[in-house]
Amino acid sequence: MLDSIEKRREKLVALSDAIWEFAEPGFKEHKSSKAIADFLEQEGFKVSLGVADMPTALVAEFGNGKPVVGFLGEYDALPRLSQKRQPAKEPLEEGKAGHGCGHNLLGVAAVGAAIALKDAIESGEVKGTVRFYGCPAEELLAGKVFMVRAGLFDDVDCALTWHPFYYNSIWAANFLAMNSAKFNFHGRTAHAAYDPYNGKSALDAVELMNVGTNYLREHIIPDARMHYVITNGGGEPNIVPAEATVWYYVRAPKRPQVEEVYNRIVDCAEGAAKMTGTTFDIEFLTGCYNVVSNDVLEALLLEKLKEVGAPEYTEEELRFAEELGKTAPEFLEKTRTMFREQFGENADDKYICDTIIPVMDKGKPLPGSTDVGDVSHVVPTAQLIVTTSPLSVTTHSWQFAACAGTTIGQKGMLVAAKTLGLAGIELLKKPELVVKAKEVFEKQIKNNPYASPLPPGAKPKA
Ligand SMILES: [Zn+2]
Repeated sequence: MLDSIEKRREKLVALSDAIWEFAEPGFKEHKSSKAIADFLEQEGFKVSLGVADMPTALVAEFGNGKPVVGFLGEYDALPRLSQKRQPAKEPLEEGKAGHGCGHNLLGVAAVGAAIALKDAIESGEVKGTVRFYGCPAEELLAGKVFMVRAGLFDDVDCALTWHPFYYNSIWAANFLAMNSAKFNFHGRTAHAAYDPYNGKSALDAVELMNVGTNYLREHIIPDARMHYVITNGGGEPNIVPAEATVWYYVRAPKRPQVEEVYNRIVDCAEGAAKMTGTTFDIEFLTGCYNVVSNDVLEALLLEKLKEVGAPEYTEEELRFAEELGKTAPEFLEKTRTMFREQFGENADDKYICDTIIPVMDKGKPLPGSTDVGDVSHVVPTAQLIVTTSPLSVTTHSWQFAACAGTTIGQKGMLVAAKTLGLAGIELLKKPELVVKAKEVFEKQIKNNPYASPLPPGAKPKA
């Protein structure tokens, strides 16, 4: 299995580098998804590109019958995070997207794992089906939600994935469920000085709505999060804005809690429309579930991660990590404190993690969201994290984007591919493990059955 990946090391690295350079944001990953589809086709997979109404979503399959093991891959970049492969901030291309969440590595490690399983099936060592899911627009919390709705996971027995991070461990935390929606207010223009009394300001409505939701903050559960940006606040100060839009994310540990807070926000919009004499419509972009963790799969991933071992670094890579540490000294200190206080590990003289931390924060609300949540509600799912950046570098930063294009990121990617591959082979070899993972899953979702968070007829939107 490890040979399968080692043999293709250079090709996998080149693929991740190509996607790093394409740096295409959500639903625009045309070159990236095509590169992965071509790669898997050459490896003998049956590939469908453009599934679930999304041109950049793909499913690639090899083998026959049960069990079916799925690997989740992503490849979308983040707007405005273009960055050179260096420890000082400088965009590769000004204003362009960059892989600030390392999804170029994420996608390609899942490709590597899928190929390792293919080799094992092909050689007759194991029986079953391996499937690679190319999931677009994770940053928009969208791709997997639409893929689940399309029934693409209906026959999957277990799903495994990972995320690039700044230490090595298992992600067993409860990522928050979420709604993403734009509120478009419609008023009437007028000269802002000459006859403002003839105008109805859509921007006033946006501002009043936000005042309402900001007061609401005190009266929602502490683990809920809501944040907004005004994507259209009008054109010029001398024209009463007839159109204005505010984009909201609402998050909470469970779907029903998201819906409760979301409905209160809709009330705020209604109140604001009434106060300003405007109207509004809601553009519901996406919603997703919290992540249900699975003990059995998590234990399996941890065991395999220990077998593979944490990435090891050269002097040059350690110097790069130290240089990057200087760009975010406060975060570095926070991480070192977390290592000391929560992990019981001394990382005070380290710039990059070279150890494996056991499963942490099991079931605790983690203030972020991922569309892996929706998969985890229909299939037993687990997530690994592997170091692809120094201790001073968190996701969604230029520093993280830099690392995702260097050997530091690539080493993490290969460790992830091997760990996921070993775990996948074990699942094909030992059907009793799949049965156990399903038992745990059934118990967890028994009182929380899945219904798509998408309103009927919702279409994927960038
Ligand atoms: Zn990410």
